[in-house]
Amino acid sequence: MAKRKKYKLKFDVFLYLAVIIILIIFAKKGINAYKEYKYHKTTEYKLITQGYTKKDIKLLDKYFDEKELKELAKNKKDTTLLSLMNSKYYLHKNLAEYQEYYDVNANKTPDEIIQIVNIHRNHEYYDNPIDTDMDKGYGIIVNKYYHLSEDYEPDDLVTISTKYSWGNLGSQKIRQDAYDAYVNMHEAAQSEANIYLMVNSSYRNYKDQQRVYNNYKTNHGEAYADNIAARPGYSEHQTGLALDIFSIASPSQATFKDSESYKWLLENSYKYGFILRYPDGKENITGYKFESWHYRYVGIDLAKKIHDSGLTFDEYYAYYIEKN
Ligand SMILES: [Zn+2]
Repeated sequence: MAKRKKYKLKFDVFLYLAVIIILIIFAKKGINAYKEYKYHKTTEYKLITQGYTKKDIKLLDKYFDEKELKELAKNKKDTTLLSLMNSKYYLHKNLAEYQEYYDVNANKTPDEIIQIVNIHRNHEYYDNPIDTDMDKGYGIIVNKYYHLSEDYEPDDLVTISTKYSWGNLGSQKIRQDAYDAYVNMHEAAQSEANIYLMVNSSYRNYKDQQRVYNNYKTNHGEAYADNIAARPGYSEHQTGLALDIFSIASPSQATFKDSESYKWLLENSYKYGFILRYPDGKENITGYKFESWHYRYVGIDLAKKIHDSGLTFDEYYAYYIEKN
């Protein structure tokens, strides 16, 4: 009798356990099915079904909010968008312009499109005027898109000694820090390479530039004037940070690019805070033909960064200075 009862008890326990196990299996299946059902409702799943990889989605996630991602998930994978976003100098604020430009320039690579739009080159010169941000200090930009106001005049202009510049005393002026840097550079060029640097153009105010520009315009028309001079407000010389530098041995625009002086400036000017502003082969970016003599003071730290980046100032500004 006792033996039988024990046996029955064992059977009950077994039955009880079996029921629990079956319940667990079903519950698990149910949870999984529910999870899958839920996952299929997510934007990520929809994006995957449209051809995006998990890596693509991670990139999209960096720039788009949930609402925008949902919108994207309505269409097949946008490979143009992804290649733009994968480009080194992609700026998200410019996306609409990149896409617009790509629509009519599909032969251009994503890197080219980004380069062009970042510097506003998708607009004609002077067609997209922007008041330059004066808060950028020595990193301010002035080109055929960014301009200074008519009344901008630096308050720390100093006269360049005739020891370092051509023209009458008082005719050449530059901002104090740029002058100190220039004097250091002048002395280094002389002691290191026996090169005697000379400035032949420096600060020009708005009115001076207006006179020069209008003179060309009146005599030869706007196209000619634009080709040869900056419009008033758009000349970097108005910043008081730009210098046209030659040397006693090589005082000519035509041949300065072949001189030892130019070679020395190319290798050393950044160490003193100056950058070559209109390099060879970059006309379509800077808006100016190669000017081996035009240097811009940006300060030593920034000059080194720009030099090391290999970018023009226009590109560097868009990506590293304006961005922040
Ligand atoms: Zn110049």
